[in-house]
Amino acid sequence: MATLGNPKNTIEVLQKYHFNFQKKFGQNFLINTSILEEIIDAAEITREDFVLEIGPGIGTMTQYLCEAAREVVAVEIDTNLIPILGDTLSAYDNVEVMNADILKVDIAKLADERNGGKPIKVVANLPYYITTPIIMGLFESHVPIDSITIMVQKEVADRMQEGPGSKEYGALSLAVQYYAKPEIVVNVPPSCFMPQPKVGSAVIRLTRHENPPVDVDNEKLMFQVIRASFNQRRKTLANGLNNFGSFSLGKEEIQKSIEELGVPVNIRGEALSLEQFAKLSNIINAKMKRN
Ligand code: SAM
Repeated sequence: MATLGNPKNTIEVLQKYHFNFQKKFGQNFLINTSILEEIIDAAEITREDFVLEIGPGIGTMTQYLCEAAREVVAVEIDTNLIPILGDTLSAYDNVEVMNADILKVDIAKLADERNGGKPIKVVANLPYYITTPIIMGLFESHVPIDSITIMVQKEVADRMQEGPGSKEYGALSLAVQYYAKPEIVVNVPPSCFMPQPKVGSAVIRLTRHENPPVDVDNEKLMFQVIRASFNQRRKTLANGLNNFGSFSLGKEEIQKSIEELGVPVNIRGEALSLEQFAKLSNIINAKMKRN
């Protein structure tokens, strides 16, 4: 039975092993059983599923995952947590703990070996300092993924959901929405963690699109266009694209591309939707090919 979701049992384990929290690894352990249950429910894990957990900590959520899934692999960077996990997960025979940095793990290979290349589920209470590289790495490397259910900083969860017109809207919103459907599951106050973080958190579920919602001729180029547009937020889209310097198009051709999109030439990048970014990158791609 999962026992670690309450503060008393967590403190007992921490004391038994004289564990010291490491700030550099973003260690804030969950101590609220209803939030843990909500995460497991939102992830819709079944006995068929292979689950990758990033950063198990002392194994609090891992216990819940082991009870719901067919197989769990939990990747933890902190060597000091490995013996603790050996203890807290000793009742389960469907879990493997890997002592590694998730950013260096070949997740596609793992999915291939452990799940026959079928889509996996990713569940994590993420270390906030690497939220974006983890999510982008999972999507961009085309690992077969069904859904990612993660605890992130509240502000980052909001950014993933936003559209044009919001000040939170940016490159992360567009990247996430290109690959997946984001849904905030629950907001989580600092009191649900030990130690308490300085910021509010939220659980967000990203359900991978079977097919991207827009037609893009050159994905890499579209993300360059997006990055260029948000690099200099206060500048117009035309200036942002011009200053980026990687499109091998003159200033006039960039202006023409924006006109062809059917928007004012002095528009700012933050006003464009994902669909418009896709169209604009297709126009630029065609022009670059012609040059
Ligand atoms: N899942 C646990 C929980 O909910 O109580 C712990 C969550 S804590 C916010 C983040 C965990 O990720 C820590 O255990 C930390 O050591 C681990 N971590 C940090 N950076 C990591 C990395 N690059 N690769 C794997 N694990 C990492």
